[in-house]
Amino acid sequence: MAGNKKLEAELFDGQQNTGINFDKYENVVVESQGENVPPPLNSFDDCDLGPVLINNIKLSNFSTPTPVQRNAIPIISSGRDLMACAQTGSGKTAAFLFPMIADMVKNRIPDGRQHVGGTGYRSSFKVFPTVLVLAPTRELAIQIHQEARKFTYRSHIRSVVVYGGADSKSQINELERGCHVLVATPGRLIDMMERGKVNVSAIKYLCIDEADRMLDMGFEHQIREIVTQCPEAGQRQTLMFSATFPKSIQRLAEDFLYYYIFLKVGRIGSSTETITQRVKWVEDTDKHNALLELIPTVEGLTLVFCETKRMADHLEEFLYQNNFSTASIHGDRTQQEREAALEAFKTGVVQILVATDVAARGLDISNVRHVINYDLPHDIDDYVHRIGRTGRAGHDGFATAFFNEKNGNIASDLVTILEECGQEVDSWLVEISNRFSSRGTRPRRGGYKPRGGGGHRSGSSFASSGGYYQGNDSSGGNYGSSGKNWW
Ligand code: AMP
Repeated sequence: MAGNKKLEAELFDGQQNTGINFDKYENVVVESQGENVPPPLNSFDDCDLGPVLINNIKLSNFSTPTPVQRNAIPIISSGRDLMACAQTGSGKTAAFLFPMIADMVKNRIPDGRQHVGGTGYRSSFKVFPTVLVLAPTRELAIQIHQEARKFTYRSHIRSVVVYGGADSKSQINELERGCHVLVATPGRLIDMMERGKVNVSAIKYLCIDEADRMLDMGFEHQIREIVTQCPEAGQRQTLMFSATFPKSIQRLAEDFLYYYIFLKVGRIGSSTETITQRVKWVEDTDKHNALLELIPTVEGLTLVFCETKRMADHLEEFLYQNNFSTASIHGDRTQQEREAALEAFKTGVVQILVATDVAARGLDISNVRHVINYDLPHDIDDYVHRIGRTGRAGHDGFATAFFNEKNGNIASDLVTILEECGQEVDSWLVEISNRFSSRGTRPRRGGYKPRGGGGHRSGSSFASSGGYYQGNDSSGGNYGSSGKNWW
């Protein structure tokens, strides 16, 4: 298809991928389990991605494949199912999109539209997509769709995104123009299926992103409802990706897979060395001041995570009163407000985004420099995803967590992650971790909630620890080789 300069500029301008230091991922240990695992590729030219996709890869300034791409692309291209775990920000989206797009372009797969009624401009259609990508949050679905639009430029392939909280009518209009790749959040997809707008019986590739989140209690029922209407495992190709993958969820995931390969890039559930992590003891009553002191210590965009929607509103107001340009994003905001806040943050109109866990997974905002866990999550996987909003694609980033007696349940896993990533670990944190481990209080998703008590006040007061990130070379991290299971 002919080029379109305006669309090309819209899709590819402002690409920040030049200068990305993927060398930092080079020594990552890659393990694959399963029979007949195809060998990894060394360059995008090693496999038959086709001239259209290769051109889009060039326009995106991707010069070499990342480790997850090197390994996952040949597996998917060879027709195998895949369960893949790789660190946050390591290029998973392209790893699953490239082989699927290459196949559809090469084989001129049609748009799967079926005329179901009306004539002329009143015609209505049902679509039978070839690719279905499921994502847990609306913002992540939008982001994957934007990536799909980039890599399908100048091809006949159409990507459409459907997600809740936004107008269904415009999403239906988009679907009716044809849909090869459907990116969706589960609830809105079921709605579209019930309205007779989408039929998933022709799905060739089912890709579940953030698979552990998608299969945990919140989404499992909806996922099963969708998957039972897809071709059976073995008749379709199923791909699951995440940075975290608790063993129990891996077992659940096997229900959806057929003769699959398990790919592990780095250690599951670990973070990356590109993020300098610090944990500070801060009492709840001191958090406000600590935040005001901390924000100016790192230049660039700052993402602040807190536990509740109310706290997110409150912190946004508090920071605004203190002359910081701030927006917030959480589940009580309308979709329009959520998208506007994210856009303002991405484009640097505001420097700080306060968020609940809606922004924890998958979101790729290339210039986030600092993630602050104002409130730590109860689950270590959530911590890994949250801090993974920085240090992406080999960039450096910083993550600071405010810790106090309420967070004892996460201490032991936190120490494990910090040690694996070659970070400094304060002795007071190790002490708390030992205390909690010996009580057998391992956190479980949605399970254990700290009951407070045991107020631990070591000498690590926030105020005494100025100059957080100076002189840190964050070396020696060895994710991937420890072989320990923390779940
Ligand atoms: P992801 O983990 O898919 O969210 O990707 C993280 C970031 O890395 C995104 O901004 C991608 O555009 C970028 N990226 C992915 N693969 C490559 C590559 N091979 N070369 C350069 N940048 C990449």
